Amino acid sequence: MIYNFSAGPAMLPAAVLKRAQEELLDWQGLGISVMEISHRDPAYVRMARQAEQDLRELMSVPDDYHVLFLHGGGRGQFAAVPQNIATSSATVDYLDSGIWSGYAIREAEKFVGRVNVVGGRVQTEQGTAIAPFEQWQLSDDAAYFHYCPNETVDGIALHQLPTQVTAPIVADMSSNILSEPLDVSRFGVIYAGAQKNIGPSGFAIAIVKQSLLTQPQQQVSTIMDYAAQAADGSMYNTPNTFAWYLSGLVFQWLKEQGGVAEMGRINAAKAALLYDFIDKSEFYQNRIHPDFRSRMNVPFQLINEQLDAEFLRQAEQQGLMGLKGHRFVGGMRASIYNAMPLAGVQTLVEFMQHFAEKNG
Ligand SMILES: *Cc1c(COP(=O)(O)O)cnc(C)c1O
Repeated sequence: MIYNFSAGPAMLPAAVLKRAQEELLDWQGLGISVMEISHRDPAYVRMARQAEQDLRELMSVPDDYHVLFLHGGGRGQFAAVPQNIATSSATVDYLDSGIWSGYAIREAEKFVGRVNVVGGRVQTEQGTAIAPFEQWQLSDDAAYFHYCPNETVDGIALHQLPTQVTAPIVADMSSNILSEPLDVSRFGVIYAGAQKNIGPSGFAIAIVKQSLLTQPQQQVSTIMDYAAQAADGSMYNTPNTFAWYLSGLVFQWLKEQGGVAEMGRINAAKAALLYDFIDKSEFYQNRIHPDFRSRMNVPFQLINEQLDAEFLRQAEQQGLMGLKGHRFVGGMRASIYNAMPLAGVQTLVEFMQHFAEKNG
């Protein structure tokens, strides 16, 4: 049994992969694979629209939002957002809560007049936190406010909605989309690269409030143009047909599991199990303030870094894969997205306990 804790491209539900395997050579009785059919074919279009419908249902997306299936992963949206939602002279507000926020800021700087960083991380006695709302330096005239509610590399999360923000809220949910219930109506744009919690890499989903597309904007390449993609049903050019199909299978699987409410319960239980164990241990540590800990990406360090390599070696021997931390931060990271069952986290904790007893 392998449990894959990779941050992304990440584990997919086994049932989804099995279904894709079964259908690979003969999709819907057509005798060819889903990758070999026109995206204009009625069978393909039906599947694509069903996937959109299932995502709308899972996230309770209001009718005045477009659901777009796009190219270029999460970073593609770093460029698409400022081009679609702001003019080239606009001011935009960004929260700088971690590595992915930083990349989004540097990309936005190419397309707008000014990127105002409203705040970022702060060190507290209980660990790294995000600056409290009262300290944010919001601008009066921002075209939008952008943040990343779950920083995949840092393992830091903003669990509360930034309700004091009056500009349209844009959220990079690449690593936490569909992980718990969410009020979509509070957002202007929600986007996600697919490879953490949805499907294959290179693919992205954007949920965009229609009224934002009637505001003044700059010239935008058509492939990234939300309005053009919405008008064409996300088929302005040939979409990544396989990624769309596989994402659709994941949405079906999520519905069978009980949707995002059930996912939220399981994800909370998984995260609590792992953090509680780390906090009680004198062998491992996590440096994020408890209120700001990610439920999707759990970074942890061995107090004795000398043992890192041996920890990873033995973990892999036990079938626990992908635990090496990001190259920028080192240590370990367990990514526990929707596809990771509770049993996977239990197995990880048992291994960590055993390793600590032998080496502590
Ligand atoms: C992985 C990730 C990205 C980048 O996704 P790509 O598809 O590699 O461009 C952006 N934001 C967050 C929060 C991520 O986790």
